[in-house]
Amino acid sequence: MGIVTQPAEGVATATFPRPWSHSRLDMATCPWRLGQHYVEGAPRLETLAMHDGKAVHEMLESAVAGGLAPVLDEIVDFARQTVGGFPAPGLIGVEEKLAVDQHWRPCDYASPDAYFRGKLDVLQIDDATALATDWKHSEKIAQAEGDPQLEAYAALVVACYPQVTEVVVRQANTKRLWCSPHTLDAEALDKARAGVDRRIRAAERLLPEQGEEPRALACSACNYCVLIQDCPAWDRMSPVIDNVTTQQQAEIVAEERRLLEVRLKHINAALKPWTADNGPVRAGDIEFGHFTAKKPEPAYDTEAVRVLIKGRDLEPDAWRDGVYAVNGRALRKLAKREDIADEAAKCETRPTPKTKFGARKVDDAE
Ligand code: SF4
Repeated sequence: MGIVTQPAEGVATATFPRPWSHSRLDMATCPWRLGQHYVEGAPRLETLAMHDGKAVHEMLESAVAGGLAPVLDEIVDFARQTVGGFPAPGLIGVEEKLAVDQHWRPCDYASPDAYFRGKLDVLQIDDATALATDWKHSEKIAQAEGDPQLEAYAALVVACYPQVTEVVVRQANTKRLWCSPHTLDAEALDKARAGVDRRIRAAERLLPEQGEEPRALACSACNYCVLIQDCPAWDRMSPVIDNVTTQQQAEIVAEERRLLEVRLKHINAALKPWTADNGPVRAGDIEFGHFTAKKPEPAYDTEAVRVLIKGRDLEPDAWRDGVYAVNGRALRKLAKREDIADEAAKCETRPTPKTKFGARKVDDAE
C-alpha cells in the first residue's frame, strides 16, 4: 500500500506513508478509505461550506500577511480585530507549515522523517506566548477547548518554537464572526502532545501489515464517505449473529449495525423525494411516505431570532449550552431558556401541521 515507516515505540510496523496530520488521523478510522484518498488519490468530498471556506481562507491568507486587499469587508474587519491588524503583529506565518519527527524534534515539512505535521492558518508569537488561529467558515460554532486539531497544532508549535511555553488556540468563525480562544499551559501542552501520539498509535494499529489489503472499517466516517458505492465492507456482511458470546462476534455485529445505519440513511434519501412527489410506497403491510406529525413543533422566524440575539447582545458563548446555530432545533432550545423565553415566543411563527418522512403500518381491513 505504501512505504514502510519506522515505527514509533510500541507501534506495529505500518505500511502507510507518514507523516500523519490531523485530517489523516481523522480518516484513519477506516484504513481502506485512508488509502484510497491518500495513496490512490481518490477525490474527497467538498461541500458548499468547504468550498466557501477555502475561498475565505485564501482571501485572509493574503490579507493577514499584508498583501492584496480582500473584498468581503465584514469578514476582513473581523479578521483584522482577531489578529490585531494587517500585517498581524508577531506574525510568524500564514498557512505556516510545521512538522516534527517521531521524537518531536522539528523537521522539514517534506522530510521523510516527518512523523506529524500541520498547516496553521495564522501563527503569531510574542515572547513565550504563541497565538494559533484557525479560520472556520461554518454556521456551527465550535469551541477551541478540547478541539483535537487545535491541540495538535499547539503541540507542534511548542515543539518547533522551544521558547514558547503557552499557546493560545482560537477558532475564528468567519461566518458567525465569533472567536473562541483557549489557552494551553505547559501541562496542557504535554497532554496535547501525548494525545497526538495516542491517536497515531491507534491509527497505526489499524493499518495493514505489508502485503495485506487495508480493511474497510465501518465507522462514523461512513456518514459522509464518498466511496460508499465501492466500499468493500458491504461485501463482508456476515450471516446474522444473534447470540453474541465473544469479543470478536460483538465487533462483527457492531460493525454491521453501523453499516445498516448508513445504508438506511441512503435508502431514506432515495425514498424521500420520490414519495414527496408521488405519495407513499408500500412494502408488504408497511408504507413509507410523508405523514402528518401528531404534535406539530413550533416554527421560528429565523431572521427575527437573529435580531433578538443581536439586540440582546447574546454572545454565542453565553447561550452555547442551548444553541449552536440558528436552526429550528436550536431555536426550540433557546425558547426553553427562562430569561429569553418571552422574546423567543414572539419569534414563533404560526405552527403549521408538519409532515415527516417515516413508516406506518397499513391495515387493509380499515
Ligand atoms: S463507507 Fe465506511 S467502511 Fe466503507 S470506505 Fe467509507 S468509511 Fe470505510
